[in-house]
Amino acid sequence: MSSEPRLRPADAPADLRAWLAALAARGALAVARDNLSLIDELAAVAKRTERDKAVLFPRPSGHDIPVVVNLFTQREWVADALGVSDDALLPHVLAAAQDPLPWVEVTSGAAQEVVHTEVDLLKQLPIPKHNELDSGPYITAGLLISRNPRTGVQNVAIHRCQISGPNRIGVLLLPRHTLAYYRMAEEAGEPLEIAIAIGVHPALLLASQAICALDEDEMGIAGALLGRPVEMVKCKTNGVRVPAHAEIVVEGRILPKVREPEGPFGEFPQYYGPRAAREVIAVDAVTHRRHPIFHTIVGGSFEHLVLGGVPREATLLQHLKRSFPNVLDVRLTRGGTCRYHLVVKIDKTSNGEPKNIILGAFGGHYDVKQVVVVDKDVDISSADEIEWAIATRFQADRDMVVVGGAQGSRLDPSTDDGIGAKLGLDATAPLTDDPLAFRRIHVKGEEEVDLSTALVKDPNAAFARLVAQLS
Ligand code: MN
Repeated sequence: MSSEPRLRPADAPADLRAWLAALAARGALAVARDNLSLIDELAAVAKRTERDKAVLFPRPSGHDIPVVVNLFTQREWVADALGVSDDALLPHVLAAAQDPLPWVEVTSGAAQEVVHTEVDLLKQLPIPKHNELDSGPYITAGLLISRNPRTGVQNVAIHRCQISGPNRIGVLLLPRHTLAYYRMAEEAGEPLEIAIAIGVHPALLLASQAICALDEDEMGIAGALLGRPVEMVKCKTNGVRVPAHAEIVVEGRILPKVREPEGPFGEFPQYYGPRAAREVIAVDAVTHRRHPIFHTIVGGSFEHLVLGGVPREATLLQHLKRSFPNVLDVRLTRGGTCRYHLVVKIDKTSNGEPKNIILGAFGGHYDVKQVVVVDKDVDISSADEIEWAIATRFQADRDMVVVGGAQGSRLDPSTDDGIGAKLGLDATAPLTDDPLAFRRIHVKGEEEVDLSTALVKDPNAAFARLVAQLS
C-alpha cells in the first residue's frame, strides 16, 4: 500500500469515472473476463479481491452495461477519493457536515441521456445477486433520494432494494429519515416520490452515511466534501432531483398501505437480515447515460463496512473531543464490523481518564459495544498494535469496565433483541516516572533504511555464489 502512488488534493476525481481512472492509474483496478454470471459469480470475485482491488466487469452475464465493485476497499482510498491525507479525513468529513454546500439545479444531465418508461429492471440493468442466501438480485449501492412531502427538502440514504418484479422493488426502511417522509405521505394516503441514483462519486456515497438531523440534505455535505455544489437534475416522472452526473437513475414511488415480502439479505454484521413484509417501490422510469456503469456493493464486504465506518468515526471523534480534548483519533475496526468496536487514541494526562472516555464513548452511539483506549504511540489502524497494547498495558481486574443491560445494535445476534453489555478496556500505560518501564523497543534507523540499496537485486544468484564459495 505505502509504495503505491497517492493522490494529491488537486487531483481529487470529479465523478465515478474519474475515480475509476485514478484507481486504474495506481494499479488498483482489475478487469474481469466477459460473461461471468451476475448471480453469485460476480460477488465471488468481488469478495476475493475486496482487500486491494476494485473490479470492473465489462459484460457480466452478457449484459451491455458494465458493473463495478469495491470502489473503496480500504480507508485510505476514501481519503484519496476526497483528495485529503489519511490524517485529514475525519476533520474533513466533520467540516463538511458542519458547513454544507447546497446543490444547484441544472436543466439537463448525462444521467438522463437515455429514458425508459417501459421498465424491466433485470433486462435494462445488470443487477447482481450477492450473498448465498439473498432472496435474489438487489440494488445495493443506490442513493435513495426522497422529498419531505410538506417542505420539499430532500433526503439521501442507501437502502437495500430487492428486485421483486419487472417494475417492482422491495425496500428496507429502517426507522430513519426516508421512513419519516414515507409516513407523512402514507398518512395522507399518498405514495412517496423517490429516485435511486446508481454510479456516483464516492463523496456522495459517503455523505449519504453522515449522521445528521431530519431535513438536513446530505447532498449539501457531498458538495462540501467535493468543494463544489453537486449539480442536480429533476426526474422525468416526479419532482425528485438527482445528481446529473449519475450513471443510472431509477424513478418511482413508495406505495402507501402496501407491504410485500423482502429478504433475507446478507448484512454488515456478516449475518442475514430476515425476510419480512416491507415497503414496496413501483418503478416508473429508468434513465441512464448513453453507456452507463452500474455500481454494486456486496453486503458485508469491506466496501460496505468502510463506507459506513468513516462517517461514524467522524461523529464519534467530535462527540468525544467535546468532553475530552486530549482524544487524538478514533477507529471503528473492520473486525468489529466498522460499527461495534471502537479504538480511541489519547494523549494521556491522568490515570483515571481512560475510563471516563470509555463511558463517554458508550454514550456516543448505541452501536458501540467495545471501547479500547490506547496511548498515542499505538497505530490504531493496525489490529496487531491494538492487541499488543492490550497484551502489555491492560489488566482485566483493574482496567476493564462492563455495563450490562444497555441498548445495542438489533443486528448483533448475540444481544437480547438489541439489549446487551458494553465492554471497555483501558489499554494505556500507567503514568510513571520510570522512563524505561513502558518505553517501546526500537531499532535505530528502521524507518530510514533504504532497502533498494541495502539489498542486492538478484538474491538467488548471490545466494548460489555464496554457497559455491563455501563448499
Ligand atoms: Mn437524512
